[in-house]
Amino acid sequence: MKFDTAYCLSLDEKLSIYDVRDLNFDETAAFDSDKDSFLCPNDDCRAAFAAGNVLGTFNAKNVNYLRTPHFKNLPSTRHSDGCHYASHKAVAGETEDGREEHFPSEWVLARRQYERKAAIHGSTDAIPQDPAKAPSIISNTSHSASETTPDKTSVFAHPVECYVSNIDDKDKLKGMPLKIGEQSATYWTFFKKIQYLQDNKGLIYWGRIKAIKDYTSSFRIDFEKKVWLDKKPYSVNVYLNKKLIESYRKRKAFLEQIKAAVDSERALYCFFYGVTPALKQVPSKKNPEQTFGVFSADIQNLDHLLIREAPGLEEK
Ligand SMILES: [Zn+2]
Repeated sequence: MKFDTAYCLSLDEKLSIYDVRDLNFDETAAFDSDKDSFLCPNDDCRAAFAAGNVLGTFNAKNVNYLRTPHFKNLPSTRHSDGCHYASHKAVAGETEDGREEHFPSEWVLARRQYERKAAIHGSTDAIPQDPAKAPSIISNTSHSASETTPDKTSVFAHPVECYVSNIDDKDKLKGMPLKIGEQSATYWTFFKKIQYLQDNKGLIYWGRIKAIKDYTSSFRIDFEKKVWLDKKPYSVNVYLNKKLIESYRKRKAFLEQIKAAVDSERALYCFFYGVTPALKQVPSKKNPEQTFGVFSADIQNLDHLLIREAPGLEEK
């Protein structure tokens, strides 16, 4: 059995590997998974060993990972008799089946907050540096960690990983429930190909990227597929503005990722939630008096956008 969560020693919380990645890239959080310790999430098992009995964190720090990130038993990791995490053999991450088995039944749109045990890394570590994200504001828009069970996630990459790594098992995706905000459906229903965006609002739209326009401090992502309206095809894009990127708490990791994507020769896909591209008239470059129609949206929250490789998606 795989680890759905692991116990993080410094935060005194059980985290999914997606939580760990989110924290690693968050410039407002003093967190480094390499300097932290992750232990068996089974409380009884963990109590039986010293804090040095740790797990590994596969792909916790790789911005552009290919295989599903996960916790793994190291050759030295021990478990108590009867701990069901013991059956998860220590294997080299590269050879392991990349399928995500833990489908959260809810994607919580507000991000998870952590109260660090002050004594461990100093009391100022967890204070956000961005005045726009003062703690008083955060407390209004987020849920406390105690509400978070392994059944919920606040990290977009987690449901996306479930979808992408299980794309060859349509029945499974159709059977797995997912709640986003007030909406309940299945994984299959929530993920919508970009060319069918007119079918329904409020879904996770995705499609293969045709090009990413780098305007230095802002970006435009153009999709390969077009939307058809009144028997005419229209291009689709999403726009990421400068302010959004500059104030993003994972700005460095995001820029590293999107700049690599601009030059990438590989097939990349974009997933986003929270906005639905709508038909707009924009002036033509060649002839500014003329306009042409394009389906476009401004991304509002970079936590709800993901660019990644997605092997197996193109044939579907
Ligand atoms: Zn254990």
